[in-house]
Amino acid sequence: MSLTAAPTKDTEYTEIGKKSLIHDPRSGNDNKITLARARGSRVWDDQGQEYLDFTSQAWSNNLGANDPRVVEAAIAQLREITHARPNFNTAVLLELTAKLREITPGDLNRIGYCLHGSLAVEMAIKLAFKNKPGANNLIVLQDAYHGRSITTMAASWPHPNNPFLAISPRFTRVPHPDPYRPRLGMDIEAESKLCLHLLEETITKGVDGSVAAIMLEPIMGNGGHIVLPVSFHKGVRDICNRHGIVLIWDEIQSCFGRTGAMFAADYYGIQPDIMTFGKGIGGGFPLAGIFASDKLNGFDAGEDALTFGQFPVAMAAAVATVDAIISDKLCDNARRLGEYATERLLEMAKHRKLIGHVRGPGLFVSIELVKDRASKEPACKAAEEVYRRGVQKGVLFGDSRYAGLGNLIKLKPPLDCTIADMSTALDVLDEVLASIEADNIA
Ligand code: PMP
Repeated sequence: MSLTAAPTKDTEYTEIGKKSLIHDPRSGNDNKITLARARGSRVWDDQGQEYLDFTSQAWSNNLGANDPRVVEAAIAQLREITHARPNFNTAVLLELTAKLREITPGDLNRIGYCLHGSLAVEMAIKLAFKNKPGANNLIVLQDAYHGRSITTMAASWPHPNNPFLAISPRFTRVPHPDPYRPRLGMDIEAESKLCLHLLEETITKGVDGSVAAIMLEPIMGNGGHIVLPVSFHKGVRDICNRHGIVLIWDEIQSCFGRTGAMFAADYYGIQPDIMTFGKGIGGGFPLAGIFASDKLNGFDAGEDALTFGQFPVAMAAAVATVDAIISDKLCDNARRLGEYATERLLEMAKHRKLIGHVRGPGLFVSIELVKDRASKEPACKAAEEVYRRGVQKGVLFGDSRYAGLGNLIKLKPPLDCTIADMSTALDVLDEVLASIEADNIA
């Protein structure tokens, strides 16, 4: 629809802008906060209201927002060259690649870039299939989240009423262990063994043809913050070795210090064949990609090239971000602050019965709210209220609206968050939970 008259005031732009956005315009857009400024662990809205941002904007500002080193590096790059198609290298592309090679685990020495996690996952899938000619299956986990492109949606937890199914690839989903809700009263190690057994049976009897890759998030994020046990990871690695299957770890959420280690692969001491990265690397600029084993063949011309896939400004921001994560020892800070947060949350759980479970590691922190600790029934209304009342008290907690899994509250501030800010956010959380319990909301 075209406008009949040009808007004259900012407020008119705001209203027209809100009505015209295509993403979910009728349900909730009006309640969205309009952000105007960000610095470190704080953001300000267009009315000047300040918030502690414990979402790091989709857990992406691992280095606090608008870090001056990142901003300066991006500006310096802007003055030189802002765009180069993939047929060309830029100095900053090569610098970033050489730097990343120094920190990637094991032999993950080949690096490819794009601008979004979903496309990084697609790149990983493409590389796996390229290296397993003739294979026709990809195995993923049942509560996975790998993105929102058509392919990565299909690889994710079955989206209720997914309108794109007719044109989606079909992947095979297998069960995984869940430490909070183990099946049939099993302990987590027994469940881990059972899931490995079912995975191997799926490879040998559950699919036609051969399997190119098994893809998983080492710590499952959007599908419910499920911390997979090390025994499961070791077992999957072993199965991939025995069957000649490529192991893809989707580290888009766990990479660059979020778990208290540079990568979840370091945290678990497991070596995937391909690892995706995204979110935290760009210091707020869009950047994602893959690290791949030296053993794998790379892409040939035309197989994976995106016009803006090697955006020099994001690369410069990433060089500054990675330097800062290392020099400021942010992995250590994430570990220390994460321990402080989880200890306090466990303490809080003693008097706030809504808290069913506390999860880490590092600053990959969340609590699961339940109506009742025995039944573990999700307390989704309470979680919504935590988010709403947190906003009123100046703290943005992470909520999870993904596919009806609405009872997690995530505390994932930047890795350079201070103990004072963490303490404030936890005090607010305790107050908010107390008021929600008093109002009998679950
Ligand atoms: N994989 C994982 C594990 C993620 O958490 C996400 C984003 N939440 C993605 C892939 C998709 O990334 P993007 O939104 O940048 O496409």
